[in-house]
Amino acid sequence: MWSKRQATGGADASQQQDPAPEKMVACAHCGVHLPESEGIAVGDRIYCSEAHRLAASDAEC
Ligand SMILES: [Zn+2]
Repeated sequence: MWSKRQATGGADASQQQDPAPEKMVACAHCGVHLPESEGIAVGDRIYCSEAHRLAASDAEC
């Protein structure tokens, strides 16, 4: 009743490089969606461009 388990690498891991899905965020000023890495984060807000970052900060005052 003894079963020998041989650790043979049966499943060969084929290396696949799939890029991690980019998190999409919405510009806090115009609402356009863009990858988080391309946005300009200010605090917990993200803007699609420097212009909208400035426009939003102007509007607050
Ligand atoms: Zn925008």
